[in-house]
Amino acid sequence: METNLFPNLSIVLVETSHPGNVGAAARAMKNMGVTEMTLVKPKDFPSEKAKARAVSAADVLENARVLDSVEEAIADCHLVIGTSARDRRIPWLMLDPKGCGAKVVAEQAVGHKVAILFGREDRGLSNEELQQCHFHVNIPTGEAYSSLNLSMAVQVICYELLQAKQGPVTDQRWDMDYASAGDMEHLYKHLEETMIQVGFHDPETPRQLLSRVRRLFNRIRPDQMEINILRGFLTAVNRLSK
Ligand code: SAH
Repeated sequence: METNLFPNLSIVLVETSHPGNVGAAARAMKNMGVTEMTLVKPKDFPSEKAKARAVSAADVLENARVLDSVEEAIADCHLVIGTSARDRRIPWLMLDPKGCGAKVVAEQAVGHKVAILFGREDRGLSNEELQQCHFHVNIPTGEAYSSLNLSMAVQVICYELLQAKQGPVTDQRWDMDYASAGDMEHLYKHLEETMIQVGFHDPETPRQLLSRVRRLFNRIRPDQMEINILRGFLTAVNRLSK
């Protein structure tokens, strides 16, 4: 099975101080099919702590490039994106995490190399580093605390990359055909007759009852088996109420 779904994408962690975060970031990446990690001047690397936190993503750490500068890390990239917890002084082109996923997938489709930069645990990316980026990405947060743990920020961004690549699950598998419009009309008629039969519904003062029942079932989109169950139940009620 292919483990690297993003062969031209590098996740660049700049001057990390906690090896545990590097390991957790490696795991977050591999979980989402992203495997190219670049470390710029990591404080403590290689590290047993990082390896322990990476668990089955130790290969991401073993294959990580370790470099001395952001310039080197992005030199051959066509698109550079910087992540930031804060609004910076000069407004920059911004992406949200979903938009970042879509942008990266679109650029990769035409063969572009992409780097996504993540900053230091205590100070983030410097203004100089952020100004080397085409776009900034901010992960929306609650107002009281906007700074995520580094590896968690990596997780959110990589999750959106994979979502953009694979698309959301739109065709929900189901074991029955949905009821047809004709089936539904039979059910509505049966329901109406039964409601009248048991004295729940007075056809002289209809109100919105039947419209609401239709809206309820349209929201649910029942399948054929569910309709059969309801029709069977109504038939039993009809028999009792004779
Ligand atoms: N105190 C730093 C935050 C560092 S958090 C600051 O204010 O910039 C470490 C890194 O995690 C950040 O540099 C960024 O890469 C990422 N990160 C944390 N929270 C984020 C958020 N809300 N949006 C985008 N990236 C975030």
